[in-house]
Amino acid sequence: MAAITLTDIQKRYPDGFHAVKGVSLDIADGEFVILVGPSGCGKSTLLRMIVGLEDISEGELTIGGERVNERAPRDRHLAMVFQNYALYPHLTVFENIAFPLRLTKGQFTEEQIREKVSFAAKTLELQDHLDRKPANLSGGQRQRVAMGRAIVREAQAFLFDEPLSNLDAKLRGQMRTEIARMQRRLGTTTVYVTHDQTEAMTLGDRVAVLRKGELQQVASPRALYEHP
Ligand code: ADP
Ligand code: ADP
Repeated sequence: MAAITLTDIQKRYPDGFHAVKGVSLDIADGEFVILVGPSGCGKSTLLRMIVGLEDISEGELTIGGERVNERAPRDRHLAMVFQNYALYPHLTVFENIAFPLRLTKGQFTEEQIREKVSFAAKTLELQDHLDRKPANLSGGQRQRVAMGRAIVREAQAFLFDEPLSNLDAKLRGQMRTEIARMQRRLGTTTVYVTHDQTEAMTLGDRVAVLRKGELQQVASPRALYEHP
C-alpha cells in the first residue's frame, strides 16, 4: 500500500500530440480513485505512465514518497489488471495465479506459493476452482483469476484499465460489487480507469474527471452527484 502523487504530469507523444496536460493528483494510502472520461481523453496514457509502460514527458510521479519517473515497471511494485485478463489457457487457475511468483525464480518456496495462492483464492472465492482451466470458467471467474494474480504480487497499488468493458451488463454489476469488496478487504490503494458513469459513481472513494488531457474535477461520487 502506498500513496501515489502526480505533480503537473505531461505527456507529449513522439508525433507531438499533447495527450496529458498538467495533471496533479494526490491519492491517499488505501484510497480507491476512479479516473473517468470519454474515449481519447488520456486515461490509458495516464495509467500507463503510472505503471511505467509509457515515459512521462514532464512532471513528477511519486509512489510511497519516492520519485519513480525513471524506475522500470517491475521496480514500481504495482499490479495492473487489464481488460482482456491475459490468462494462460494451458495453465490451471492455481498456476495462473501463481505465475508472477514463479517468474521471480526461486524467491518463494513451494509452500509460500501455496499459501499466497490460497489466500488470494479465498479472498476471491475461487477455492473450489483451482484445478480448472480458464476455458471452463465463467467470465466473472476469469476476471477474478486476473485479480488473484494482482493480489499475490503484494503490489503497493492496483491499477485497473477498464476491466469490465468486455462483460455483459449483469456480470458487470456483479464484478463491480466484487471489486469494491476486494479493495475494501485488502485496503490496497487503487486507480481504476473507466468511461462508464455507473462504475464511476458507485465504485470509488473519489472520482477524477479527465477531459482532453486535463483534470476537470476531483470529488467524491456524492459531491459530483449533487453538483455535477
Ligand atoms: P483514453 O484511454 O482516454 O481513451 P488514450 O490515453 O488512449 O485515451 O489516448 C489519449 C489521446 O492520445 C488520444 O487522442 C490518442 O489518439 C492519443 N494517443 C494515444 N497513443 C498515442 C501514440 N502512441 N501516439 C500519438 N498519440 C497517441
Ligand atoms: P519479465 O519479468 O519476464 O520481464 P514482463 O515483461 O511481463 O516479464 O514484465 C516486466 C516487468 O513488469 C515484470 O518484472 C513485472 O514486475 C512488471 N509487470 C508485469 N506484468 C505486470 C502487471 N500486470 N502489472 C504491473 N507490473 C507488471
